[in-house]
Amino acid sequence: MDAVHVVLFKRDLRVHDHRPLREAARRGRVVPLAVVEPELWAQLDASARQWAFCAESLEELQRELTSLGVPLVVRVGEIIGVLSQLQGHLRIEGLWSHEETGNGWTYARDRALTHWLRTQGIPWHQIPQTGVVRALGTRDGWARRWEERMGQQPLAAPGHLQGHQLALAPLPPGGLPTPEELGLPPDPCPGRQGGGRAAGLEVLSSFLRERGRGYVKGLSSPLTAGHCCSRLSPHLAFGTLSMREVVQASRRSGGPKAFEERLHWHCHFMQKLESEPELEFRDAHPAYAGLRITDPERLAAWSEGRTGLPFVDACQRALMAEGWINFRMRALLMAVASYHLWIHWRDSGMVLARRFVDYEPGIHWMQCQMQAGTTGINTVRVYNPVKQGLDHDPAGEYVRRWVPELAGVPLAHLHTPWNMTVAEQEAAGCVLGEHYPLPIVDHEQAAREARERVWGVRKGPGFRQQADAIQERHGSRRSGLATPRSGVSRRSRRKESPGQLALFESI
Ligand SMILES: Cc1cc2nc3c(=O)[nH]c(=O)nc-3n(C[C@H](O)[C@H](O)[C@H](O)COP(=O)(O)OP(=O)(O)OC[C@H]3O[C@@H](n4cnc5c(N)ncnc54)[C@H](O)[C@@H]3O)c2cc1C
Repeated sequence: MDAVHVVLFKRDLRVHDHRPLREAARRGRVVPLAVVEPELWAQLDASARQWAFCAESLEELQRELTSLGVPLVVRVGEIIGVLSQLQGHLRIEGLWSHEETGNGWTYARDRALTHWLRTQGIPWHQIPQTGVVRALGTRDGWARRWEERMGQQPLAAPGHLQGHQLALAPLPPGGLPTPEELGLPPDPCPGRQGGGRAAGLEVLSSFLRERGRGYVKGLSSPLTAGHCCSRLSPHLAFGTLSMREVVQASRRSGGPKAFEERLHWHCHFMQKLESEPELEFRDAHPAYAGLRITDPERLAAWSEGRTGLPFVDACQRALMAEGWINFRMRALLMAVASYHLWIHWRDSGMVLARRFVDYEPGIHWMQCQMQAGTTGINTVRVYNPVKQGLDHDPAGEYVRRWVPELAGVPLAHLHTPWNMTVAEQEAAGCVLGEHYPLPIVDHEQAAREARERVWGVRKGPGFRQQADAIQERHGSRRSGLATPRSGVSRRSRRKESPGQLALFESI
């Protein structure tokens, strides 16, 4: 039987800077394998838009590997079953892949796979692909390790590979399933970014060449962010580009410092989930357990973009149609769900997870907790949905685009339509409660109440000691302004008083 090294492609859909592929190719015959796992795609955080991006990336990977002489073998099924079947035709000398910091499901799958491979005597070589460190003891020195990894020379794609000759064995390449075959519900997303490495390289180059010039100024408003932000997130999430090559390309062409800082955050947040996978499910600070509620009606209004808060609804609807929204608006959506609507971050976070084409569990769940104020170590930011609208959409262009019911409302009332008289509503062609909802809550009062409740928890006995332990385990060791540790701006740091654990910021 032919002896081969199987290279398992997961969230690393490229041949460039792919160490497992290079290492396997140095050792002998290679079978590149992608397993489309229906159970993974049946998880609540998965969606057809993510699958579409993934499938496009896999198609390109198929072409690239074919040109290297070894077509990608695609199998639909459960990974242990797929590998057992391959074993019927080939002798697997080793399994090669990148380390994955995924969701709870992939974590459990990897543990089961580790166990099975051991029983078969097959070594699994897992290689890091970002700055995330497996089995990390302490956070001390983490940033230095990130630097070291990012400084390594990206690996070129291997030359012609030694592969399993398809003609010699019954190993048909296999095809990609449709979203329907995977049981994914329809999920129209007309503005979705295209997948594949070529698209990723184009996005990177246009950002570093031209778009990134407006990065710092343009990243906060949803009107400008779509153009000025890198838009690399789905490519980093599915690994069509490697983190290292993006960092190095940015350094070579003088990309914005603030951009590189965010690439660092990417790994910083993922490290938290890598070190403590339960953070996907439970509050980082235990004092918040049970604080928030599950409220299907409020959740539906928020997730369908009908809270009656125009800017919030505009952001949610834009996200539905495009599969991406900028950081500030993600934070706003999460904050409104968590404070004003008092919804549990797991419920709102799950809706967002499905909607983000770039869903990356490590970043996502940590950010959800941070914006919901349950980490215990970050500033509690209660975004004011009206002020955010006035600041970032002063001419009302964004609201009118995404909430056409409000198109005729004069600018003076656009972000607060509930202040219109009935006569004004009629004149504007938008009667509240009929054409567009009345606000689901009085946002100012709801924010006040939420602040009090969260503050009450923070004053509880032992809160501080537990927060210190969380900071020790997960907090950034970097000092300086732009660390994600606190998310605290210069302005708010000044407000921090000695002995006060963390502060509230209304923005
Ligand atoms: C509630 C919430 C959920 C989020 N969920 C995700 C997610 O599932 N996947 C995801 O990639 N990002 C997530 N983010 C972080 C951030 O909003 C996106 O990374 C960013 O908007 C992607 O657009 P970009 O590639 O143009 O970013 P850029 O501003 O160009 O940044 C470049 C890269 O840096 C990383 N990055 C940027 N901002 C952050 C951040 N705050 N934390 C960690 N890494 C960052 C991303 O990899 C991004 O692609 C979330 C933020 C919030 C508030």
